[in-house]
Amino acid sequence: MKIQDKEFGEVIVRKSPLVRGVRFSVSTSGRLAMSVPTYTTEFLAKRFLNSNRKVIREKLPIKDPGEQRARDYQKKLLMKKAREYLPYRLDYYAKLYGYSYDKCRLTHANTRWGSCSSRRTISLNIGLMKVPEVLRDYVIIHELAHLNHMDHSKEFWAEVGKHDRNYKNHEKKLKMFSPGI
Ligand SMILES: [Zn+2]
Repeated sequence: MKIQDKEFGEVIVRKSPLVRGVRFSVSTSGRLAMSVPTYTTEFLAKRFLNSNRKVIREKLPIKDPGEQRARDYQKKLLMKKAREYLPYRLDYYAKLYGYSYDKCRLTHANTRWGSCSSRRTISLNIGLMKVPEVLRDYVIIHELAHLNHMDHSKEFWAEVGKHDRNYKNHEKKLKMFSPGI
């Protein structure tokens, strides 16, 4: 459920049988999010919101509605670019170095550039479209190497190093960027 609020813009309401009372947080888009018990009606959610307005304003870094929309737009553009690029780039390196993966997924989490699951799905963050190509390629090679080593062992890094001799430097440079949009 979503409610429109004059001050906070679009507010995301997540219903969960596990929640008692109400909890406020900030979504990755900078919107206000509230977790409420399943039975909560829109009327009740709005009442919770109104009675906590002051605390929310003081404690949570909510983006204003204009910024929220700008971020939505940026995300859409980035997703479009990523969709036209990342799966093909992944495929290119996989073929070049003889890896086989099952699926490529695009994500937009705030914390990780990529991941590789035991089911051989490689996830790549669309925020990669904002970093220099050489770092983007490093992340792809890093995740491909996880297909053979699901850890960060010596063997894993040796494999990354085979395909990217400057991986240490790339890993360090990547820390100067944030995957979040
Ligand atoms: Zn890793």
